[in-house]
Amino acid sequence: MLSPSLEDYLEEIYRFSLHNDVVRVSDIATCLDVTMPSVNNAIRKLSNENYLVYKKYRELVLTKKGRKLGKFLVERNSILQKFLRVIDSDCDIKAEVEAMEHYLTLPTIRAIESLVDFFKNNQECRLEFLKHCDQRKEKGLGLIDGYKD
Ligand code: CA
Repeated sequence: MLSPSLEDYLEEIYRFSLHNDVVRVSDIATCLDVTMPSVNNAIRKLSNENYLVYKKYRELVLTKKGRKLGKFLVERNSILQKFLRVIDSDCDIKAEVEAMEHYLTLPTIRAIESLVDFFKNNQECRLEFLKHCDQRKEKGLGLIDGYKD
């Protein structure tokens, strides 16, 4: 298993590679808004674990293993974003997913994936669910923020 940080690097490298022929270390530093030494450090670890290889001019090429995991990481991120949208969560979706994605187990993410798919194929159920949420809100039901005075 990769650390959350290395997963994010690989995820971003894979995502970038979908839209660009060449991926360079500097591109990833820009995407993730991190310093070059941090990227270099991460790239070295990913390379040691055979997820990618360095080429000339600081070009990064994912191995078959790297592409497979990268695809998984990008899809996992996308499923969780869809999930937060489908349940109409009033949160910063991207930031929330960044926090969730590394800690949920595969069975949970697959269950979430099924739920997202279910609502997609049963729009009337989703509308029913949203109505239910509105009704609860009107009644003032729901978890009280224990951190608020
Ligand atoms: Ca991520």
